[in-house]
Amino acid sequence: MNPIGPRGVYDEAKRFAEAITFAYHRYHKINTKIVRIFNTYGPRMRINDGRVVPNFIYQALHDQPLTVYGNGQQTRSFCFYSDLIEGVVRLLYAPIHGPVNVGNPYEFTILEFARLVIKLSRTKSKIVFKPLPTDDPKQRQPDISLAKKYLKWEPKVKLEEGLQETIQWFSNNSN
Ligand code: UDP
Repeated sequence: MNPIGPRGVYDEAKRFAEAITFAYHRYHKINTKIVRIFNTYGPRMRINDGRVVPNFIYQALHDQPLTVYGNGQQTRSFCFYSDLIEGVVRLLYAPIHGPVNVGNPYEFTILEFARLVIKLSRTKSKIVFKPLPTDDPKQRQPDISLAKKYLKWEPKVKLEEGLQETIQWFSNNSN
């Protein structure tokens, strides 16, 4: 994390929100929870929010080339919305106040992800490579050992399954 980089305000805002939340817990004894949400996806995402899941699905459904940024070797791990909700609800009822990661640790490259979207949507789309945005993390994968231990939680929905449902939803609901 670079506090004066282009994403500095975003990173710092999250760090500050956690600190102030914990201060409320400590000082006012409020039953606060801090969940660290990682990349999440599913039906009803905004198609034009610029993130990789809606971008690739939109492009695939319109037979447009999928825009992979950089060489596509950066990794991400995506959590299906229903898994995330289950993790958040369990945290609400657990006696934990420190930050807990809720995300999917199953990691793959963006290039692999693009190929999977192409396969599942049976599109004619090809892959094109575009410049990598500044400060794009090389890897993002949550360590969910706290959630496993204290919430008895881990994601259940496999990427292929969740992606299939998401693509289906977009093909029925967007134009
Ligand atoms: N990405 C991509 N093509 C796109 C949109 C995003 O290759 O059309 C890449 C982006 O550079 C990043 C990854 O996919 O490496 C995930 O991007 P997103 O914005 O969805 O999430 P974040 O970077 O916040 O994890």
